Amino acid sequence: MTNRLDTHPSWRPSETGASTRSQPIDVDLVNGPRDTTELVDIHESIAQAFATQGRWQLAYSHLTEALRLARDSQHVTPLIPEQYQRQVDELKRAHAEAVDASLRDALTASYNRRYLDQKLDKLLAEQRRDGEGIAVALIDLDHFKQVNDTHGHVVGDRVLQQVVALLQADLPAGAFCARYGGEEFVLVLPEANPWFAVTTLERARVRVAEHNWSSIVPGLVVTISAGLTHRPGWELPQRDAEWQLRRADDLLYAAKRAGRNVVAYRRSGAIRIAGLDDNCR
Ligand code: GH3
Ligand code: MG
Ligand code: MG
Repeated sequence: MTNRLDTHPSWRPSETGASTRSQPIDVDLVNGPRDTTELVDIHESIAQAFATQGRWQLAYSHLTEALRLARDSQHVTPLIPEQYQRQVDELKRAHAEAVDASLRDALTASYNRRYLDQKLDKLLAEQRRDGEGIAVALIDLDHFKQVNDTHGHVVGDRVLQQVVALLQADLPAGAFCARYGGEEFVLVLPEANPWFAVTTLERARVRVAEHNWSSIVPGLVVTISAGLTHRPGWELPQRDAEWQLRRADDLLYAAKRAGRNVVAYRRSGAIRIAGLDDNCR
């Protein structure tokens, strides 16, 4: 029993540049491929079929296998290795782009919840006992429903994009911003001592409050509130990302109760409001 696999005409041109693979391949489905050349052709064809459908990961794995077979084979020399390599590079690039897109929020281009969960758990698990510790802040836009109700969702969306730009400005190395959901964002500051974390969040809060929002809509005012937690390196490693975010949520609630447009954090167990209960405002 044989089956026919159509190969793409432009898939692998000959040394003269003309296509050599416009003929279908006859595959013996009972006895399998006759030799390595045929196996390479089959992998190439399948890779092309997946690439045409945009299924880059599958295409990439078949192309990689074709390349491995061709390289390992005593008898088969890839027709044009550079062309081959270009296809692999293109698939690798497309695959890397797809992976990055799967970890980003479509509206704001900040990282998404999936990235946050993966990365924060990893950072907490790998935290050095003698390090500065990790700060995690949960940030929520104040009265954002009013912004939507007054100016519409398109303006609301632009506000979210601008807030992310302001949160990401001036972030220390290794820190990142992720959209937690809706109008809530998380800032993660690895290797940050408590004082550095409070001043970094306070600066971000002020950047948002003092931004010229009238450039979007005259009279628009936007502020954020934040709940900031800090986990020192020596703290129990079983306290994971979820536990850390729950603590940040409690503090965010305290920030809202304190009147909004503030950063709430804990020092020696007691809740404090940055700038009001210390001297950094
Ligand atoms: P608070 O200060 O207590 O946080 O009040 P709030 O109005 O910000 O909170 P509430 O939870 O009542 O409203 C959040 C609003 O955020 C409601 C929802 O429509 C809006 N929102 C969530 N995601 C998006 C989005 O992607 N785009 C827009 N434009 N609005 C969004
Ligand atoms: Mg909210
Ligand atoms: Mg809100």
